[in-house]
Order: sequence, then structure tokens, then C-alpha cells
Amino acid sequence: MDSARKSGKTGWEAPSSGGGKGASDKSDKGGVDKSSSSAAADDGAGNVKEEGMEVAKDVVASNEEDVALEGEEEEDEEEEESEMSGSSELTASEDETTWITWFCNLKGNNFFCKIDEDYIQDDFNLTGLSALVPYYDYALDMMLDVDIPIDNLSDEQQEMIETAAEVLYGLIHARFIITIRGMQRMYEKFFNVDFGRCPRVYCQGQNVLPVGLSDTPRNFSVNVYCPRCQELYYPRSSKHANLDGAYFGTTFPHLFMLAHPDLIPPKSQQAYVPRIYGFRISKESIYYHPRENNSTSKRRTNATGTTPTGSGNAAAGDAAAVVNGQQGSSGQKERMRRR
Ligand SMILES: [Zn+2]
Repeated sequence: MDSARKSGKTGWEAPSSGGGKGASDKSDKGGVDKSSSSAAADDGAGNVKEEGMEVAKDVVASNEEDVALEGEEEEDEEEEESEMSGSSELTASEDETTWITWFCNLKGNNFFCKIDEDYIQDDFNLTGLSALVPYYDYALDMMLDVDIPIDNLSDEQQEMIETAAEVLYGLIHARFIITIRGMQRMYEKFFNVDFGRCPRVYCQGQNVLPVGLSDTPRNFSVNVYCPRCQELYYPRSSKHANLDGAYFGTTFPHLFMLAHPDLIPPKSQQAYVPRIYGFRISKESIYYHPRENNSTSKRRTNATGTTPTGSGNAAAGDAAAVVNGQQGSSGQKERMRRR
């Protein structure tokens, strides 16, 4: 492939490995009816039509510059780095659309990178997911463009399978992006600022990375993590509000940074100082000691003069309850807000 050109584009130099695999590997993917067509992809210099797929999918934009998806697959196997550096999301218009490409190109799905099909086809990578996703087998087939006997399914079932395929893709995605290949995909997207920039002024437009607050689906939507201020933010676009954080996981941005230490930004030295008419606000001011804290500290001192815990005094006990209650609720609020 034209790896040299592509590498030149981004300067991304990764040790090219796994060269020499290719069509032979393809045909090893037993069970999936792509093998024949991918063999065809080898012959047909990048402009391949896959007979097995729906015609509608075939007719999508053709671009002589890049390789058909099937080609991309092989590229992945031969040298996924070059595919990476081709900044697949932006420059590569596919000659045909696989489910994965279609899904990743959906509006609001640009946080997702494309998962290599051979990664999905390796059962080991999917361990435990069948319990989390209904219609697992159908969903997997749909994702891999294997024909599903639609005639036997109701519309409702088809819809559920589509949803299941999206969930399954997300859950596999969370695993994929903490592999070397997956990180390379995300590296590209990071450099393309696909995930956005930190909204904090003193982070000076630092690129952010997606992260979840839970590895279990349906708990939190995705957030973005700024490696400079090491804070979490809501994604800038509301299109991402519905993306599940578990599709990115709790580990990714941190492992990513450790895997690319040169990308770890220096901490910003500047901190914002609020001023009124040019004067700083007294550190004693209520401005820095909001009402809640004031009242709790007052109660605490009024009740016994010591910390209220463990006191036999009834009033102190009440105060303690109030204090604890307040702390509890404000703590909860804080946690909710963070979510
Ligand atoms: Zn920041």
C-alpha cells in the first residue's frame, strides 16, 4: 500500500508489523461470507464491489484515492498503521459501505473509531459480551455484514437487533481502543481534534479524549478528559449526550497518555484570579466560603465547641445529624452533578 505517502501525511511512524499477511488470512476467516469477496478485493485494485452485500450499500461513493473497505480490512492486517495515518475518517471515502463504516459515519458517532473486523471475529475479544447484549448472534452478524434471515423476523425484532448491534459495537469498541491497534486509531482522531478541545481557557485548546465514568453500560454518558487540567467535561456537542460512557471505558485516556508520554502536556501554570474593579477578593470573603459551609461550621462550634461526633449531648446529636445530613446531601448533589 502507499504507506509512505500516508505516513508522510501525519508523521505518524509506527513500526510496521504483521506485513505479509493478507489474502491468505482472509480465507481463514471461516464462517464469514466475506472471504470470497475480500479475495476479490485483492484483484480489483481497490475498487471492489462485493456481490454478497446489499446493492444499496455498494453504490456508495467511490474514490480512486483510497481503498475499498474490504481493502481497508486487508490493509489493517497487512499494515494497520498506514491505514491509520491515512486519517481514515476524513480522507478515505469508501468504495463501499460496511456496517461499521456506516455506523461510524452516523452523525454523533464520530467519537468511535473503526474496529478491525478480525478483532471482532476473534471470540476471545468478545468474552462475556453475549450476556450483555440481546440477540447477540444476530447483532454480531449484522455488524460483520453477514446476511441475516430477515424474513423470519418482525420489524420490532429487526429494530432490536439493530440497537443490539450498536450496543455491541460500543462494548467491543471500549476493549478495542485499549489495544495497540485501537490506540493508533484513536491517536489519529485525537490529532484531528475529533473529540474536541478543553473548554478551560488556560488549557489553551488542549485536545481532549473520550472517557466513561463506568465500564458498565447504561450508567453514564460519555465525557471528555483533558490531559492538561486532568478534568472531565461534557462533550461540546449535544449529539454525544446519548453516547454511553461504557463504549469508551474508564481506562482509555489514561492508558493512551501513558502509551504516548510525549503527548502528556505540561500542567498549565496559570490560574484564574477573580477580581472586582481590579482588586482581588479577600480570602476571608463569603465568596470563597459559601453559605452552606458557613452555617455548618457555625453549628458545629455552637453545639459543643468540639466536633459533634460521639457527644452524648442531644442538641449536639441533632446538630451532628443536621451536619451529616447536609454533608450527605451536598455530597450527593456534587456526585450527581459530576455525573
Ligand atoms: Zn483542560
